[in-house]
Amino acid sequence: MRVIVAGAGLGGLTLAQGLHRAGIDVVVYEKDEERGRPQGVSLHVDDRGTEALRACLPPGHMAMVEATMGGPRDGTSLLSEVDGELVVAGTRPADGTAGRRPGRQAQRRLLRAVLLTGLRDRVRFGAAFRRFEELADGRVRVSLADGRTDTADVLVGADGVGSAVRRQYLPHAEVVDTGRRMVMGATPLRAVAGTGLAALLGDNSAAAQVRGMMMALGVHRFTGSPVAARDRWLPGLPSPVVAEAEDYVMWCLPLTRDRLGDASSPATVWRLAQGLAAGLHPTLRLVVDKAWPGVTVALRIGMIPPVPAWPAGPVTVIGDAIHVAPGFGGNLAMQDARRLRDALVAHARGERDLLSAIGAAEEAMLRESVLALDESRSAAAAMPVPVPAAGAGA
Ligand SMILES: Cc1cc2nc3c(=O)[nH]c(=O)nc-3n(C[C@H](O)[C@H](O)[C@H](O)COP(=O)(O)OP(=O)(O)OC[C@H]3O[C@@H](n4cnc5c(N)ncnc54)[C@H](O)[C@@H]3O)c2cc1C
Repeated sequence: MRVIVAGAGLGGLTLAQGLHRAGIDVVVYEKDEERGRPQGVSLHVDDRGTEALRACLPPGHMAMVEATMGGPRDGTSLLSEVDGELVVAGTRPADGTAGRRPGRQAQRRLLRAVLLTGLRDRVRFGAAFRRFEELADGRVRVSLADGRTDTADVLVGADGVGSAVRRQYLPHAEVVDTGRRMVMGATPLRAVAGTGLAALLGDNSAAAQVRGMMMALGVHRFTGSPVAARDRWLPGLPSPVVAEAEDYVMWCLPLTRDRLGDASSPATVWRLAQGLAAGLHPTLRLVVDKAWPGVTVALRIGMIPPVPAWPAGPVTVIGDAIHVAPGFGGNLAMQDARRLRDALVAHARGERDLLSAIGAAEEAMLRESVLALDESRSAAAAMPVPVPAAGAGA
């Protein structure tokens, strides 16, 4: 069996690892070049993501992921300001509601490098999927933007929220702009040493509601040395990604579409964040001022209303391509990948008919995406957009 995956994101690479490990011929076409694009620095990986990675990755890869995650995060500290001091006023447990599940932080660049390790000859960068054609023999022919074609038994659209596979296959599934935006960035922990922030936050995430503004933040402290973990578990992992990994604070400022302005580059988004943070407590302002400008991103919060089930075929979609869940979409994408891998492996072993295996994976995914939509709505309600205090910067 041969599988084509469009998109080398979290879902596509987790799936490719799982299929490759099971001896299934898989090729991934990714439109970006290998260095990728900024997609945030951190990923909160919950039980869904961890289980999917455990099932799909070889043991050394998984050991590397686990050795470089932050400490366990089981709640959100609610920060407020008392007499000019930032204090923890309460804790919201990660109880499985509103997208909040316990988990640990992964550094995205490192996770991506682990997911790519061992797949170098399976992933083609700078190769954008354009369209597909179902052939009379039940297979699928894929055309790339550069004119090349390839044929496989299954095409998986893991090409994210703007999915070209979904647009052709399920044109009625629409992405709706909620009007909400998130400006997200990260700051080396050493740049805010001496503020007491790291001790105040511990491993939990935090939501600061101060001076009429909302800011979410969290610290990722590597529990062990990434270089030592690489040397022990995954020597094939490229050096710069590991050597450059350092402890950081990730942060997020919610806002609305009309306040976003120029988001054409990470540097302009960072300057916008500085304006938004201008009225915040000096420690929070420092977090934004000392951020790595190049990784600051403005995230458009979209949603895909539930898509009615469709008849199973040799084309399918996973992850953000079919359900958008800000804050936990990566976990869902990895979970979809695991489910689809199980289905395709069962078929390859002769245990299941291909279309019924794909159909069962899709059914479970769609069921869960309806729940995820509810979770996303509750998460949005728990993270209101800011109403800046008088005198706060724009
Ligand atoms: C700043 C930020 C922070 C986040 N934090 C979290 C978090 O803490 N936890 C969590 O679970 N989720 C989080 N998310 C959401 C998570 O990143 C996404 O849900 C997840 O990346 C979706 O995975 P995916 O594989 O479906 O799509 P993506 O990771 O978006 O990957 C899609 C890939 O397809 C490629 N592609 C697109 N079009 C084509 C084409 N035509 N041909 C070939 N390739 C194509 C893209 O270049 C991309 O590499 C966050 C998102 C952002 C932006």
